[in-house]
Amino acid sequence: MEINLVSDTVTKPSVEMLQFMFNSKVGDDVYKQDPTVNALEARVAEMFGFEAALFFPSGTMANQTAIKLHTQPGEQLIADKWAHIYNYEGGGVSFNSGVSCALVDGHRGMINSDLVLDAINNPEFYHSPLTSLVSVENTTNKGGGACYDLDELRRIQAVCKNHNLKFHLDGARIWNALVAKNDNPAAYGQIFDTISVCFSKGLGAPVGSVLAGSKEMMHRALRIRKIFGGGMRQAGYLAAAGLYALDHNIKRLEEDHRRAKELGALLQNLPWVQQVEPVETNILIFTVQPQISENTLMEKLKLRNIYISSMGHGKLRIVTHLDYREVMHTYVMETLEKLF
Ligand SMILES: *Cc1c(COP(=O)(O)O)cnc(C)c1O
Repeated sequence: MEINLVSDTVTKPSVEMLQFMFNSKVGDDVYKQDPTVNALEARVAEMFGFEAALFFPSGTMANQTAIKLHTQPGEQLIADKWAHIYNYEGGGVSFNSGVSCALVDGHRGMINSDLVLDAINNPEFYHSPLTSLVSVENTTNKGGGACYDLDELRRIQAVCKNHNLKFHLDGARIWNALVAKNDNPAAYGQIFDTISVCFSKGLGAPVGSVLAGSKEMMHRALRIRKIFGGGMRQAGYLAAAGLYALDHNIKRLEEDHRRAKELGALLQNLPWVQQVEPVETNILIFTVQPQISENTLMEKLKLRNIYISSMGHGKLRIVTHLDYREVMHTYVMETLEKLF
């Protein structure tokens, strides 16, 4: 039995999800005639209180489309230094939109209204790039699954309004934040111009993301998605996995969070562990004592069929997910306890 805690993207669709996908009605989504894609888009838009939404093959394409929507070449966006859009989307911000990033030094991948205010270029000073967009991540990926308080997001929104900036949420793991904070998704629609969400992380679908916003924006996004090569035909089979996930896999994220917290609490008390970052959702980041290398630990775990990842700078990462079940959790807890 292999226990893969490298990412929550390693989940495989369940038999029930596959059956639901198999049974779905499809059409040509490039003509907007796929009833299942249309249903998923309507469902996500309504959930977050937006007018419209658009289905995407990946979260990266959904984010990149949002950036293209909100900016012109030569302009600048503001994001945390650890932002996925900057670090893990292949340089798409500059490649796709001709935009640069003003990176701010936030806390665990989260920024605040003061940092944003500080990073805005004076629009009258025409030598500097024009700031036009702020993008935040919730939960944060590199920040270890940390989640925002809605009030902080509202303060950033106020700064954006005052300075004529658009506000985008990279909500690849928004489901984890909603469960951890017990927030109402409609509150998010009140704060952001656009939100991207993923079905292929904690929700266990094989593929699929959605971008939500106003009708006018989603109309423009349709053209951008076409340009990026993201128009798909009978995509309803994939959208069905998202619909299934929304019905069955959100509430259970609590289990992933509990297991990550239990692992964190255990590691905290082991002598070979140096530091454990606070665990809010399903991502756990920790460092080991200097006399043990990250590779030694990963190799030791691998011999016991447990796979975790290194993030560099001495940091190790564990991510819990749908396919990490209680029997595995018991085994991992016991194994960690007697590892050295
Ligand atoms: C995974 C992820 C994405 C999107 O990734 P894809 O692999 O393209 O679906 C975007 N933002 C964050 C924070 C992520 O963790």
